[in-house]
Amino acid sequence: MDLGLQGKVALVAGASQGIGRAIAMGFAREGAKVSICARGEKRLQAAAEMIRRETGGELLATVADMARVEDIQRFVSRSVEKFGRLDIVVTNAGGPPPGEFMKFTDEDWENAFRLSFLSALRLIREAVPHMRKAGGGRVINITSIAVKEPIAGLILSNALRSGVIGLAKTLSRELAKDNILINNICPGRIDTERHRKLSEDRAKRSNQPLEEIEKQMKGEIPLGRFGAPEEAADLVVFLGSERASYITGATIQIDGGLVRAIQ
Ligand code: NAD
Repeated sequence: MDLGLQGKVALVAGASQGIGRAIAMGFAREGAKVSICARGEKRLQAAAEMIRRETGGELLATVADMARVEDIQRFVSRSVEKFGRLDIVVTNAGGPPPGEFMKFTDEDWENAFRLSFLSALRLIREAVPHMRKAGGGRVINITSIAVKEPIAGLILSNALRSGVIGLAKTLSRELAKDNILINNICPGRIDTERHRKLSEDRAKRSNQPLEEIEKQMKGEIPLGRFGAPEEAADLVVFLGSERASYITGATIQIDGGLVRAIQ
């Protein structure tokens, strides 16, 4: 299948590791020019180098914190200056910390709101004028299966990511006339640095060895294993492609069958 991504420009936020890096690699492999960001320079440059080496693609790396509006503006403007257009935007960042409701302060909630909700809103708002200029575009938000089935111990994520779904659904109707298609993906248990940290946290909380926890977690997944970042990336690259021309406003889980809900 020709995905029609040759020469397209894709912005991938939060891409120095994990799902974001795999997505950037996926777009670069399909011949798109890719612009990535993360907060830490060293790991970001290492990811950029790795993608260039493996794909031979054109890649721009910008140090930017998705929780800060000025950084998001700079990320977008630098990308457009370098590549001259913008076709695809992937909103992504680290997830908020786990914890108990009564222990979180207003400040914790405000930080999580900036990281998990405002970051997506702001990145989309900066990108839309450029996509309109290009005659259309694609937005893919990386959320979580928490929007289909809340995850124990992750109240910040459970509460705030649902807002992204509401935003995306509304925008999918508003931006359809501009040929801008917007969808959400919901990773289940994808084997990344963040996922390992959450498993360790769960092991500590339940006072069990990590191996036992991971065995239990895999046992709950119908496919019997964690997903690879590349498997999540394949879905995002497809949604960003010319082939996904009739999908908008959708929220699709990639979870090995973990979510029990029908919708
Ligand atoms: P990860 O922590 O391995 O990678 C996150 C990436 O985002 C890193 O490159 C990090 O440097 C960057 N980042 C973090 N905060 C940032 C910020 N403020 N500004 C810019 N960059 C930032 O995480 P992951 O497992 O790849 O997950 C990606 C997203 O998907 C997260 O929001 C996570 O909560 C969500 N998610 C992941 C899983 C999973 O199983 N891995 C499941 C459900 C949801």
